[in-house]
Amino acid sequence: MKPALKIPTPVTLGLKKSFGFGDRLGLATPGHLAAARQSDFAPIFAQQSIREMARTQRTPEAVLRAAQTALAAARYSKTWGADADHLKTLEDVEQTAAAGYTFFTLDPSEFVNNGADRLSALELEHEIAALARDGAAPELDWRPFYLNQRFEVGPRLTLEFNQEKLFRAAAKYGRAIAHGVKMARHIAKACQGRPFEIEVSVDETDSPTTALEHLFFGLELKRRDVKVVSLAPRFIGEFEKGIDYRGDLERFEKSLQPHVAIARYCGPYKLSVHSGSDKFAAYPVIGRVCGSLLHVKTAGTSYLEALRVVARTAPALFTEIAAYCRSRFDADRASYHLSTSSAEIAALRPFHGPADEGLYLDERVGRQLLHVTFGSVLTAGTDAKGRRFKDSLLELLERHADLHRDLLERHFTKHLSLLNQG
Ligand SMILES: [Zn+2]
Repeated sequence: MKPALKIPTPVTLGLKKSFGFGDRLGLATPGHLAAARQSDFAPIFAQQSIREMARTQRTPEAVLRAAQTALAAARYSKTWGADADHLKTLEDVEQTAAAGYTFFTLDPSEFVNNGADRLSALELEHEIAALARDGAAPELDWRPFYLNQRFEVGPRLTLEFNQEKLFRAAAKYGRAIAHGVKMARHIAKACQGRPFEIEVSVDETDSPTTALEHLFFGLELKRRDVKVVSLAPRFIGEFEKGIDYRGDLERFEKSLQPHVAIARYCGPYKLSVHSGSDKFAAYPVIGRVCGSLLHVKTAGTSYLEALRVVARTAPALFTEIAAYCRSRFDADRASYHLSTSSAEIAALRPFHGPADEGLYLDERVGRQLLHVTFGSVLTAGTDAKGRRFKDSLLELLERHADLHRDLLERHFTKHLSLLNQG
């Protein structure tokens, strides 16, 4: 009888530079592991947001178990993390803590006031008063803490608030910080003494996070004794799902430098890059500027590599899936940030066979079509015979496990090596 495989458990990774491999199907870890083994990034092999779990009808336990099963089979014994991503409520915290996650990403973005920059002076005064009334204002002594102070954030960076900038930062992020603090305290309770680490993410907001706003956010967390291992600001330019960075790389680099300095000053904590899939043009810059204070998250790009297996080995199935995705695009795109339009989807040539792989899996329109419709494909979608796409997909991936692993290994080796290329 073979000895039972030891079940690897996730641990905290601390300030080691790290990389998150989201896996929506639960079969991608062998490929992720193959790439991670060749890299100096600490891996997070289980990472899924509550939103995606709902969309794919998975539980926090199932997501974790899928990674554990693959790691046990590979007899992996090094450290790895498990990220309960984009947690919005106290119940999200309880559920994922009970499942054994070690890394908790708090998402208080619903509490970010995106209109703060446009408030009049009077509205701003009212909002600051409202924050205090609602218990979301910083401590009573917050104004003297910030005003008429010079924050020497880095050797070449000193930041100062004036009252207006301070009030706008508080109006924009005050409630989000208060919610984040509440969530963080709940995590400490839910983890019952075992080690955990916390990220705060505000990447899914309308306007980029300025240096002063980040400084305010970071200092407020510190003043309230919330220790974070990473923080995800909203960066300038477009971090769209499934495609490369869109924006001016020089401006991006200039805006990234103060964020790193602030992360070092307020923490140190890592900067977290969400929607990190496929941002090949920006990776050398990100890697160079962030150095080791870096965490990168990816998710949908692994699902697209799974679909590449389908395009190559079962083109008829891919044709059906692609046609179904077109019918779902308008409804499914709603919660995503992407540039592909319905007209572009309508103009996309139907999939006719492996020669069209690039059109669907390498170009923007095809990739975003497949990316935003994953939830529908993995839950409601069926083929002409009424069989669930998901069942066919999982069966195919089991049958072509080597191809699946090789595609993922190649894809993530590209990600990880470009991050080290700056
Ligand atoms: Zn995110």
